[in-house]
Amino acid sequence: MSESKAKSYRAETRLVHAGTLRSQFNEMSEAIFLTQGYKYDSAEDCEERFSGKIPGYVYSRYTNPTMSMFEQRMAALEGAEAARSTATGMAAVTTALMGLVRAGDHVVAAKALFGSCRWVIEEWLPRFGVTSTLVDGADIAQWKKATQKNTAVYFMETPTNPTLEVYDIQAVADIAHANGAKLVVDNVFATPLFQSPLTLGADVVVYSATKHIDGQGRVLGGCILGAEKLITDSYQQLLRQTGPSLSPFNAWVLLKGLETLSVRVTRQTETAGAVSEALAGHKKITRLIYPGRADHPQADIIKKQMTAGSTLVAFEVTGGKEGAFRFLNGLQLLGITNNLGDAKSLITHPTTTTHQRLTPEQRAELGIGDGLVRFSAGLEHPDDIIDDLLTALDRV
Ligand SMILES: *Cc1c(COP(=O)(O)O)cnc(C)c1O
Repeated sequence: MSESKAKSYRAETRLVHAGTLRSQFNEMSEAIFLTQGYKYDSAEDCEERFSGKIPGYVYSRYTNPTMSMFEQRMAALEGAEAARSTATGMAAVTTALMGLVRAGDHVVAAKALFGSCRWVIEEWLPRFGVTSTLVDGADIAQWKKATQKNTAVYFMETPTNPTLEVYDIQAVADIAHANGAKLVVDNVFATPLFQSPLTLGADVVVYSATKHIDGQGRVLGGCILGAEKLITDSYQQLLRQTGPSLSPFNAWVLLKGLETLSVRVTRQTETAGAVSEALAGHKKITRLIYPGRADHPQADIIKKQMTAGSTLVAFEVTGGKEGAFRFLNGLQLLGITNNLGDAKSLITHPTTTTHQRLTPEQRAELGIGDGLVRFSAGLEHPDDIIDDLLTALDRV
């Protein structure tokens, strides 16, 4: 599908058709190009492809036709000029940050971050002379106040893991741009379907494709998206020379995952909404957070920048860690795991898993109590999911 044609189709259509490259066999389903290298017609052809004088593939650490198909489909979906795939979501986040900073720069990020992202900012970037300030992402004044002359990057994920807070992308983009800096948004929880950070002013969007994009708990992958010039100038060499490349096989799994993304995520969001309705006000639940509910603390921002509430619900059960463990161990259908966005409904206890590294004070600051659990809606019948949750809550 040509680029101009892709733009005229709606997201669901782009998810199925955009980016397809056909070989001489005209296969209907996209091919997996499991090849490291490419054969050249002549030494001259080889020289020119290496110098970039003529287009074409040279080595699969750089790119590969199956990777290209995944990247082009992601770009068409996101409305981005360019996309680059990576082996994991963390490879995407690390590259997205490292490509924009140098020694002496400063980063402002929201405190509420996926654990590994927070490690990269707090523990890894300082080794290269890049300092940071972590702020309460919901308080716009804090983003402004943390700004220094040398602030080069602002970074947030929204909705956040695990408390599903939502931050104002446009407001932070304005602060970043006023300082000549870039805003990077980790859009994993919203998915490309429910929130378009680039449209809201973000410069770079990153995904862990491991989550909803694969959607069936199989492979790891990631993606970085943005304007062509920024992607080429800031990331092309970094990716090519350091090599966090996506495997062509995983690129193919993710490409096929994209075909069903809308169907899955739409259904999972309906289920998450039904679960939040069924659990709200339950006597064993002290707090429930779902971005699709009117009682969400940032409901006004959600209305402005998201088109649906997403596939996750967070809630706190009574009785702290003991209560949470009784509840988790009482589940028959739902799987206890730290992943999300799978066809199977999953549940996580952040205090003892993804956020174990933080101190109790740091967790308290983020609103992560010992009784908090995060539910990721799968594709099972919603009534079976709700029955399982209610039965397990009886054991608390
Ligand atoms: C999972 C996740 C990541 C990391 O992705 P991997 O594919 O596991 O490396 C980063 N950010 C968010 C918000 C995530 O949920």
